[in-house]
Amino acid sequence: MPEARATSALPKIKLSPRGATRLKSGHVWVYKSDILAANDATPGSLVTVTDQRGKPLGTALYSSSSQIAIRMISHEPVADLPALLRQRIADAITYRQKLVRDTNAYRVIFSEADQLPGLIVDRYNDILSLQILTQAMDASLVRETVIAQLAEELHPAAIIERVDPRVRELETLPPRPSGLLHGVKTATTFTMNGVHFHFDALEGQKTGAFLDQRENYAAAAQYGKGDALDVFCYQGGFALHLARVCDQVTGVDSSRPALEVADQNAGLNKSSFKNPEIEWIEANAFDLLKDYSASNRRYDTIVLDPPAFAKSKRDLDAALRGYKELNLRALKMLRPDGILVTCSCSYHVRQSDFLEMLGGAAIDSHRILRLIEVRGQAKDHPVLLNVPETSYLKCVISHVSE
Ligand code: SAH
Repeated sequence: MPEARATSALPKIKLSPRGATRLKSGHVWVYKSDILAANDATPGSLVTVTDQRGKPLGTALYSSSSQIAIRMISHEPVADLPALLRQRIADAITYRQKLVRDTNAYRVIFSEADQLPGLIVDRYNDILSLQILTQAMDASLVRETVIAQLAEELHPAAIIERVDPRVRELETLPPRPSGLLHGVKTATTFTMNGVHFHFDALEGQKTGAFLDQRENYAAAAQYGKGDALDVFCYQGGFALHLARVCDQVTGVDSSRPALEVADQNAGLNKSSFKNPEIEWIEANAFDLLKDYSASNRRYDTIVLDPPAFAKSKRDLDAALRGYKELNLRALKMLRPDGILVTCSCSYHVRQSDFLEMLGGAAIDSHRILRLIEVRGQAKDHPVLLNVPETSYLKCVISHVSE
């Protein structure tokens, strides 16, 4: 049995009963505090995970510095990690081929949700943007395998790595710059739901765009009408979709560079807009909503898509107050028969918290909300049922009346 031999050769990590129970309940992470013994496990190594008595529970990737010390990669022994990675990448690509429609930009690999913990890969037409989040995924052999497999399967013109210096620091990895890993191209255009966008791989937030909202853009365009306000518009995701169906669209963001790209994106799509001019306003959304509601501005459609207000569980109450303030103001500014599209990308604000907050805002604004759709992230950002952390985006579309 070569597999058994290979497994016994891996370093063993012994878990506390709490750590073992966590894995048995379907989660794939074990925290540092639930490790009883790490023996000879080196940073980023492939390890065999056992319970307190030494019974194997599966194979994992180990981090010596992260609070999340163990990320499971298989229930089985793993004899050949590069082969497993190649198979997982191929499976992730096949999954998207089945489920992703109307776009040449989507998340190809979503870390735990694709059983490739610590690896994120987004496709923007002919450019792949890759993020490495753990010691194990940063190992040279792993990097080489991932890049070669992505190149072979998807034939991109370029693969670019986006580095988050904070993540490398947390994983005690040496700093490295963002940059090209394969090919030479760094900018392109992509199309989702028939709407065109510029993409510059070395600029922008996240890996460049908010691909997780792709299906929500299409849903918003299904209900949007009249005068629309897209608050926290970034490079125009919702605004550009709404401009095809609304008479007048205004996008608001505090980032001038984001608005400049939004305006360039509008230029790519003008011919499909009802009104070719979208108004872009650089402002603090909280101040602007306050001013606009005080001066009785009214809209038929409002989108709220703020950045994550709750970065940790401790921020939950403050985050809910922030969401409530925004939603309250938006509800007051909607004409009867209006549409509210309200989002939260904070994992720590669960869907039930968010709906409760929205219910409170409805009461305080004396509006009646009918839920049209309670949505999440696009299907290329799969949610693993037993790993709640993979589900973070909420997008609630409501009909608003007096
Ligand atoms: N709706 C966008 C994504 C929004 S991300 C899309 O679908 O692409 C959140 C945005 O909020 C960022 O563009 C950021 O610049 C902006 N932002 C953060 N704080 C802000 C504030 N106080 N006022 C206005 N915009 C803000």
